[in-house]
Amino acid sequence: MTPGVRLVVLGKQGAGKGTQCVRLSHYYSVPHISTGDMLRANVKTRTPLGLEAQARMDRGELLPDTLIMDMVRERLKERNVSSRGFILDGCPRTVVQAELLQDMLAPSSLDLVIDLEVPTELVLVRIASRRVCKDCQAIYSTSEPPVVKWICDVCGGMVQQRPDDTEEAVSRRLAAYEAETAPLIGWYEDRELLVRLDGVGTPDEVLERSIAAIEARRGTER
Ligand code: AMP
Repeated sequence: MTPGVRLVVLGKQGAGKGTQCVRLSHYYSVPHISTGDMLRANVKTRTPLGLEAQARMDRGELLPDTLIMDMVRERLKERNVSSRGFILDGCPRTVVQAELLQDMLAPSSLDLVIDLEVPTELVLVRIASRRVCKDCQAIYSTSEPPVVKWICDVCGGMVQQRPDDTEEAVSRRLAAYEAETAPLIGWYEDRELLVRLDGVGTPDEVLERSIAAIEARRGTER
């Protein structure tokens, strides 16, 4: 069996993080931990956390670091994570979150941080056409819809545009990315954990690049 991995995937909204993380989590048999998906599940079931998070998420604003990292800490304690690793999608998003994550993982660390690089013009096009299953978060696009129109192929849920994929929220999310998340690239580079990958291409092409980068890091080049 392929060994597990401890991976963070960075990239702007629409860079393809969600799509790649799902595929990588199947390849390495480790859980895909998306803080956005966890928050949306809380919004859907109207938990106190979801009620607190919803307005900020809809506006495209980041949530407080401690709230996010408390949620991640609980998730990392679960047995399937501690035994094989994880793929973190959408977290860390600030240097404070990255520091808290390092503390949580100590004395161990991440294997690698992948930065998926895609030009802003292209992410805007991708976000405008992105459609997501309301129930299981499977990702589609207007050019690659589900087989039966807007019914999810995976779970039968309704496929629709995300409430924060509006023009206004997207520009706020991209601004938050530049201000808060882009500095993480240098932060992880200083710690020799970062690899920059071209995120332009088909999902299969980008997956190949990602696996090659992870295996190169472990010294098991394919
Ligand atoms: P995503 O699906 O990763 O784009 O996340 C959707 C929204 O959830 C973001 O726009 C934020 O409002 C919130 N969010 C998700 N992850 C984080 C995080 N690590 N830090 C702060 N806010 C987050």
